Amino acid sequence: MKAQPEASHFINGAFVEDTDGAVIDCIYPATGEVIARLHSATPAIIEQAIVSALDGQKIWAAMTGTERGRVLRRAADMIRERNQTLSELETYDTGKPLQETLVADATSGADALEYFGGLAAAINGEHIDLGGDFVYTRREPLGLCVGIGAWNYPTQIACWKGAPALACGNAMIFKPSETTPLCALEIASILHEAGLPSGVYNVVQGYGDVGATLTTHPQVDKVSLTGSVPTGQKVMAAAAAGIRHVTMELGGKSPLIVFNDANVEDAVGGALLGNFYSSGQVCSNGTRVFVQEELMDAFTERLIARTEAIRIGDPQDEATQMGPLVSAAQRDKVIDYIGIGEAEGANLATGGKELTLQGMENGFFVEPTVFTGVTDDMRIAREEIFGPVMSVLTFKDEDEVIARANDTEFGLSAGVFTQNLSRGHRAIAQLKAGSCWINTYNLAPVEAPFGGYKKSGVGRENSRAAIEYYSQIKSVYVATGPVDSPY
Ligand code: NAD
Repeated sequence: MKAQPEASHFINGAFVEDTDGAVIDCIYPATGEVIARLHSATPAIIEQAIVSALDGQKIWAAMTGTERGRVLRRAADMIRERNQTLSELETYDTGKPLQETLVADATSGADALEYFGGLAAAINGEHIDLGGDFVYTRREPLGLCVGIGAWNYPTQIACWKGAPALACGNAMIFKPSETTPLCALEIASILHEAGLPSGVYNVVQGYGDVGATLTTHPQVDKVSLTGSVPTGQKVMAAAAAGIRHVTMELGGKSPLIVFNDANVEDAVGGALLGNFYSSGQVCSNGTRVFVQEELMDAFTERLIARTEAIRIGDPQDEATQMGPLVSAAQRDKVIDYIGIGEAEGANLATGGKELTLQGMENGFFVEPTVFTGVTDDMRIAREEIFGPVMSVLTFKDEDEVIARANDTEFGLSAGVFTQNLSRGHRAIAQLKAGSCWINTYNLAPVEAPFGGYKKSGVGRENSRAAIEYYSQIKSVYVATGPVDSPY
């Protein structure tokens, strides 16, 4: 098989197999063929990972931040050197075109390892003077962190969770999505090769039940999930029983607001990036595109023309701009939503069909799809589709659009296109979302905090903010005089 790893799991610095675990078939979304067969973790594998992580964490936490950072930065360099191979693997795992994976996946994972590697030596406590007596704080690791990934960015998620966790001196057990089990194994192996002590970063495969077992394991101190809101609710509830720390990076139905004075080509470019990148399987996508009345005709004309020019095809061909959806189930879900949109009375402006490509007849391809004339109450405007389906809505004025944009249970992202500086900042300040853009969309550099408001999440990934979510503060009062006790 094309992409078969050495074994299903990576524990204590080595590939490990246990064929008693349920089979996980890894399917290449462009052809529907099984490219690797792995096994879900058995209880024995989970225990092995826990024990090795606990042992590894003690060694790792005893090292200096500088030493830890050096390992992470070395891993970042190795990932960049192997970008071509890692990108090809990401493409096999997800079906995303090489044109994207070469620049957005392993590279962004490397950015995270480099950034947090650089920060590791500066993760410190503080000194608080009390005029004689004093307090110092120690910023200590949480201990054993579990990362649970979604399938849209398997390399990036493995690194975005691993890099800050490791920089703070934690160990991690990462469970990839069962749909995309391959990439995290490579990251674990590279980290080990870069000098990470055995057991500090482990990968165990599995379905939701393995995630659930890890979430409730008494030795686990934190769970960081990237996934859907329903899974987030389950994981957060399960973590609550043990009063465990959580980071939740969940779904969205984000608004992208285009005002009359926006540059049309830029706004269309932002809407395309915010809906069709990764075949629309991006949590922060701006899937509700609100366009101010006057600009509607010019905007939709360019939007449809540019959508219809998107090159769909073999993801391994670098000229391909859009690949298939990740799975047959995701394709079916998207096709169902397109049917719902039509039944609800939205206007199917372009796309809407499954595609059968020559030589890839069993791939999960769907045309990039634009609905116009969408209203707020339609399900396609309220529910996360997670596919290449854009809803275009119209609005009259600023107050109205902000109220409508905020009328959602989600709050991951928001974008505004305008050339009026005051309006841009004023609008963004009122939008209830954690990751926002003015005059662009979906850029997520490691330097910027990333995460959601409302049901889209808890906690932040990336940036210095992530350190808060992978460490805890110990406060130490030091007396410098006699104890003043009345007893
Ligand atoms: P999902 O919620 O179905 O699964 C996510 C992960 O959780 C998988 O690894 C799965 O095995 C695991 N899981 C399932 N049930 C579990 C349980 N009871 N306990 C512990 N773990 C469990 O999500 P998905 O379909 O893989 O990914 C798509 C979703 O992820 C979308 O909703 C998308 O918006 C969201 N997402 C969010 C972000 C973000 O950063 N906010 C990024 C990417 C994807």
